[in-house]
Amino acid sequence: MTTAERYPALGRIAQAMDRLQRELACEVLRPGDLAYEQARQVRQALADRYPLAIVRARTAAQVAQAVRFAREHDLPLAVRSGGHSISGKSMADGAVVVDLSGMDGLSIDPYDRVAVVGPGVTSGRLGWAAHEFGLALSTGDVSSVGLGGLTLGGGIGYMVRMYGLTIDHLLSAQVVTAEGEVLTASGEDHPDLFWALRGGGGNFGIVTRLEYRLQPAGTVLGGAIVLPATLAVLRGYLEWASSAPDELTTISALTHVPPMPFVPEPAHGSLAFVISFVAVGDPGQAEAMVAPLRSLDEPIGELVGPMPYPAIYQFSEEATNRSALAIRSMFACELPDAALETMIEHTARADSFMHMLQIRVLGGAMARVPEEATAFSHRDKPFMVSVLNEWHDPAQTEGQLAWTEAAWQALRGYGSGVYVNFLEDEGDDRIREAYGTETYARLAEVKRRYDPTNVFRLNQNVPPA
Ligand SMILES: Cc1cc2nc3c(=O)[nH]c(=O)nc-3n(C[C@H](O)[C@H](O)[C@H](O)COP(=O)(O)OP(=O)(O)OC[C@H]3O[C@@H](n4cnc5c(N)ncnc54)[C@H](O)[C@@H]3O)c2cc1C
Repeated sequence: MTTAERYPALGRIAQAMDRLQRELACEVLRPGDLAYEQARQVRQALADRYPLAIVRARTAAQVAQAVRFAREHDLPLAVRSGGHSISGKSMADGAVVVDLSGMDGLSIDPYDRVAVVGPGVTSGRLGWAAHEFGLALSTGDVSSVGLGGLTLGGGIGYMVRMYGLTIDHLLSAQVVTAEGEVLTASGEDHPDLFWALRGGGGNFGIVTRLEYRLQPAGTVLGGAIVLPATLAVLRGYLEWASSAPDELTTISALTHVPPMPFVPEPAHGSLAFVISFVAVGDPGQAEAMVAPLRSLDEPIGELVGPMPYPAIYQFSEEATNRSALAIRSMFACELPDAALETMIEHTARADSFMHMLQIRVLGGAMARVPEEATAFSHRDKPFMVSVLNEWHDPAQTEGQLAWTEAAWQALRGYGSGVYVNFLEDEGDDRIREAYGTETYARLAEVKRRYDPTNVFRLNQNVPPA
């Protein structure tokens, strides 16, 4: 493909782009620039996209200028913080991409337990910085995910039962609007916008600063226990994890055992159930909470011990690497035996340890926040089930997508709703499913107020009412 074919708008706006580059005191990468190729890579390898320009903004003023530029020239606008979008929507063909990965300032006030971060800060970086003060933010399960995208969707991780979602600790957000205005949204200022930002994704503006209240964490008990993948183990696990004290949050996966050093070599590659967890509080007491798991069946392997909270990310280190990703996800009120058997059956058919059927047991603090307090729906659902699949070889794409789809079709009848941050490009009905009727209508109304022409549409889009 020639440059002119790939970037039809390039000739039309070349001069304007030169001007933008001169005016902005930050990098503006264009096709052909040395750093462009690297900068267009995002976590989702299926999103092999060629934007027109990547603006590596460092300040809200630069972001505002990039927004105005895109509007003036009628160019699509994408927003990238940590680059871990599952749909790959933070990179787009022919778009102006506002790349916030360099907006990675981080400061912590340990006395007020407040962290102020740029959207490009990752969960791992904040986790380690907060740990210095015995504090933590409830974020996700992989260190490299950006706080920009994670927070705007909700943020579900290893402290969700103890401390709720990431958004439940957001105090304020600085936002660049579609008009290029810089606002601060909080409980007092622009409360409608603040409500929408907490779960509504990137629909309402570009967030350039986030302020959170941190929670006490100290040393936690964390790790993973690998058990045989039987119906009895899964049933026992669900009962145990749902009735455990809030301090304990688990994320479990049916998978073929990866070559983990704490699993004996002969078991590598065999079908198993891996239960990862974090228990906040006294590690000695937490040991007693975890003990019943080992009586469900003889563990195949385990690595459990006191650790700094962010050390749990070492168990998902592999997931920080770029790969092709296919995900289908749902919430569920119940998981009957038939659903669990279906999960075991489909995992057994998979051909690598990069396929998994994940169960997150929710509830606790997340479920105690009233549904209408934020734009995150489905707080009442005790389970989140996801079909997750990763691969590296493009020749495998067709087969891997077929496996994901087959597992999803077999399972989807057991659940409803979806977490917006686990959506791929799945169409408007699925976006509506993420929010439910009332929240969706309220989001569309806020969208009308702050972005009536849908400038911010390269996301899980809620068009203006
Ligand atoms: C390996 C992996 C593990 C994950 N694990 C978890 C998990 O445990 N828990 C969980 O909750 N989620 C998890 N996620 C999902 C993750 O939260 C979302 O993909 C999230 O959007 C990623 O944020 P990001 O900033 O890295 O992504 P980006 O790709 O940079 O952004 C994603 C989208 O968010 C919007 N956006 C990002 N930053 C801004 C901003 N500053 N202003 C306005 N809009 C913005 C844009 O619409 C953008 O398209 C995981 C994803 C991956 C790939």
